[in-house]
Amino acid sequence: MEDRIEIIEGDITRQKVDAIVNAANTSLLGGGGVDGAIHRAAGAELLEETRKIGGCPTGEARVSKGYCLPAKWVVHTVGPVWSGGRNDEDALLAGCYRSCFREAVKLGIKSIAFPSISTGAYRFPLDRATGIALTETRQFLLTNKTIAKVMFVCFGERVLNSYKKAYARIFG
Ligand code: ADP
Repeated sequence: MEDRIEIIEGDITRQKVDAIVNAANTSLLGGGGVDGAIHRAAGAELLEETRKIGGCPTGEARVSKGYCLPAKWVVHTVGPVWSGGRNDEDALLAGCYRSCFREAVKLGIKSIAFPSISTGAYRFPLDRATGIALTETRQFLLTNKTIAKVMFVCFGERVLNSYKKAYARIFG
């Protein structure tokens, strides 16, 4: 299973994978952080399509095309805003990863890249979030045979180190 997971430092908008995941907000109309970067790189057609989708609840995912991105698809998911941990944040974040994997299977794709959902503007504690990301990925890959590559694209060394620590704990 280990060779199906890749943890790298980089910019998710540059990844040549079948789908990249966007850490969107419930409106799906774009925003700051990775969401803004994806909309800028994909071009205005992305917003036209996400406007038609009409939003997405927290913990779920919706698919659009990738337009000018190297990736063919964008899986938009809405992470929870951290508010202390007593508002189902863990389960909602796990739901994001599960929903994204479900959409990836429906698309029949082989590779998908994730950013660190909820850990920027939404303030989810980083180590807790990367633990959930890799726990859900492990669970998924144990039974799935179609996805050959799951990438975690870390924006900066702090995120990279957190994924490496979580990986050692969960897969080591
Ligand atoms: P959220 O609102 O879900 O917290 P953010 O976009 O604010 O989403 O942050 C999520 C993560 O995405 C953070 O780790 C942030 O540093 C990272 N990020 C920002 N831009 C990019 C990018 N171009 N590629 C990959 N990750 C990015």
